[in-house]
Amino acid sequence: MQIAPATVQALADLFAQGATNKAAVRALGIDKDTAARYRARLGFGPAKQPTPANRSTLTLAEKWQTYVRPVEGDHMEWTGRRRNNGGTMVFTHHSREYTARSVAFYVRTGRKPVGKVTAECEYPGCVAPQCVEDDPGRTRSRGQYAAVVGLATPLTECTNGHSTAEHRRYDRDGRPYCAACHAATDARRKAAA
Ligand SMILES: [Zn+2]
Ligand SMILES: [Zn+2]
Repeated sequence: MQIAPATVQALADLFAQGATNKAAVRALGIDKDTAARYRARLGFGPAKQPTPANRSTLTLAEKWQTYVRPVEGDHMEWTGRRRNNGGTMVFTHHSREYTARSVAFYVRTGRKPVGKVTAECEYPGCVAPQCVEDDPGRTRSRGQYAAVVGLATPLTECTNGHSTAEHRRYDRDGRPYCAACHAATDARRKAAA
């Protein structure tokens, strides 16, 4: 959409006042692609989106905290929502869905987890920050356990030639397995189903 120099000027004024693209579209009767293109061309960064009236003032961690209940032995139970009746423990913060355990991990470490987060303790459904691990953390802690109980393997490759440095994982009892072989078996099972 071509717009007149006067409209470009009006647009620049609106952007300078902090208007969103949507507001500029409404005020000047231009389309939203044009508004976005001129925002970039005129050198304006993204406008601050207006805060919805019902937006929670709690941080992600604070919101998470409202759904957990400490139980015996320093474990924690989830009192929030579960996906599909009894599935993954989740909650919503600022319109985004988070899993209880990924935020528990974030609460302890201050960073986003890598891969799946599981509770490594014996308490069913535990969401305590000190009980959860992401992929690398789990591999490390289970690997240490495997070494202690004498299950660590000196092999550098699995029987199918996958490097153990990269693909070795451990089950809860410290038994090593090859994640690449597991993934291949899963894929074959899905293809056959
Ligand atoms: Zn626990
Ligand atoms: Zn393998």
